Amino acid sequence: MSFTFAIVGGGLTGTAMLQLFAEKMRQEIDLNLLNPSEIKIQIFEKQETFGPGFPHSDRNVMPFHITNMCAKDMGILFGKSADFQEWVIQHQHNLQERFPYLDDVSFGREGCNHYPRAIMGAYLTQRFHEAYKKAQALGLIVELYSHSEVIDLEERHDKIHLIVKDRLSGSKFSCIADRVLLATGHWFEETAGNLSIRILTVRQKEMRTAMS
Ligand SMILES: Cc1cc2nc3c(=O)[nH]c(=O)nc-3n(C[C@H](O)[C@H](O)[C@H](O)COP(=O)(O)OP(=O)(O)OC[C@H]3O[C@@H](n4cnc5c(N)ncnc54)[C@H](O)[C@@H]3O)c2cc1C
Repeated sequence: MSFTFAIVGGGLTGTAMLQLFAEKMRQEIDLNLLNPSEIKIQIFEKQETFGPGFPHSDRNVMPFHITNMCAKDMGILFGKSADFQEWVIQHQHNLQERFPYLDDVSFGREGCNHYPRAIMGAYLTQRFHEAYKKAQALGLIVELYSHSEVIDLEERHDKIHLIVKDRLSGSKFSCIADRVLLATGHWFEETAGNLSIRILTVRQKEMRTAMS
């Protein structure tokens, strides 16, 4: 039986989920509990790049925009919160070349370092592509849709129908998934369309059910 898992938003949460999902699948495959070719992961990202998301993207950050949490607490790998801090130390030399302002704007106290958000973006981009390759190497089907904005979704008979807009051509296409993770990050009023209205409606319904 085939199973399709769609991730809407290829930022921090989408990247962490892809990492975790690939690892869980590896464990199941090792135990001969599933056939990898029956599992499909689709990732929809409205921007070009997978990984950085909104707050850590080159498009939105200046060198002086630093992360507001300690680097040692920002790792995205399950059970390895220091992963980001260790990654920076490991790649210090390359990062220095790529981000010449690194030393001027990074600061830390008692092992709590804050780096420019663009560095976090570079870390997330690398972790995303590692997870993507890992999932492919396991034999899972992984489809990446960049410039693709999910503009609506609807649950029908235990399947979720997604309507996606290709932001380059303006054309629309649809996909069907068994489960969807909404990892769309912050909403901005002027860009929120049908998708946010639909999600709000679902959340209101859930709240009413929970309260009754
Ligand atoms: C300005 C700002 C600064 C922040 N600074 C920090 C910080 O320093 N430290 C910290 O821990 N947290 C910070 N945060 C919180 C931050 O939002 C989270 O840490 C983290 O980025 C959230 O991950 P996410 O995956 O939910 O969102 P994001 O990482 O933003 O990823 C969401 C992705 O979904 C895509 N997307 C959105 N809608 C759609 C759609 N309909 N279809 C397809 N793709 C879509 C977006 O393009 C984006 O790539 C900051 C947030 C903001 C707004």
